[in-house]
Amino acid sequence: MANIILLGPPGAGKGTQAERLVAERGMVQLSTGDMLREAKSSGTEMGKRVAAVMEAGGLVTDDIVIGLIEEKLQKGAPGGFIFDGFPRTLKQADALAELLARRGMALDAVIELVVDDKALVGRIVKRADDARAKGLPVRKDDTPEVFEVRLREYYKNTAPLIGYYWAKQSLQQIDGMAAMEAVAAAIAKVLDKV
Ligand code: AMP
Repeated sequence: MANIILLGPPGAGKGTQAERLVAERGMVQLSTGDMLREAKSSGTEMGKRVAAVMEAGGLVTDDIVIGLIEEKLQKGAPGGFIFDGFPRTLKQADALAELLARRGMALDAVIELVVDDKALVGRIVKRADDARAKGLPVRKDDTPEVFEVRLREYYKNTAPLIGYYWAKQSLQQIDGMAAMEAVAAAIAKVLDKV
């Protein structure tokens, strides 16, 4: 049982790896992006409020995403939680530490998928094309223009978390440019040690 954060820019493969961990280890994936998209499509007040921000590639306010995470943490996860796309700011990271501490839970590892930025936009465009080919909904923020905004947000607000978790000795960096299987193996190695 381990609680982990998957950290990395958009298109790094966090969601793909999280899905594998859910299937293989019975962990629970907490993707704030998925939760926000769900709120958007179900037309809740909050969903309506965040839609424009998400489509423009900006960050939704800390209070909203912290509230979403708090709600899900209450349900517990015997196999452990995977935080995917959360935290994205230092304020969110502090809030997560507090939420976990209050429940006597540990953060076992922060796994950074280290990727080459230049390859990311190609991955995002491919994700949109694959969805289109399968007749699945295409994310409105998976365009080269919005991707650039998302990448900037990442460097401005989220990349500082690398130093934050390194200082706490929780950071594990793995090569996110390796093949999907190799990335999964590297994550498994980290999980088997914690
Ligand atoms: P993702 O699916 O993780 O790429 O998230 C899609 C969009 O949802 C982001 O571009 C943000 O607009 C919003 N979002 C997701 N997670 C967070 C978060 N932790 N903090 C703020 N905004 C978020």
